[in-house]
Amino acid sequence: MRPSKYDWKRLDPRVDAMLAEGMRVTQVAQALEMRVQTVRDRLSYRRRRPPQDAPKPAPPPLIDRSCLNCGAGFSVRSPFLRLCPTCRAEC
Ligand SMILES: [Zn+2]
Repeated sequence: MRPSKYDWKRLDPRVDAMLAEGMRVTQVAQALEMRVQTVRDRLSYRRRRPPQDAPKPAPPPLIDRSCLNCGAGFSVRSPFLRLCPTCRAEC
């Protein structure tokens, strides 16, 4: 994605304030000396990606294994662990 030529961190609050005052997007764009489409694009971009509630990635699923050393069954989240917790503790 090419970098925006506008400093949206600074502009977003001004856009919000003007919209809150009841200004139309066309008037906001005029006040900021921007193209109307640029403001519209920014507003729809922000609607698509709300900054607050970004979902956290889920932890990897548990993998059922039997220990390579003693054969006991155990569950781990890493595919690289092949020994049960007891045998790993004894290493
Ligand atoms: Zn073991």
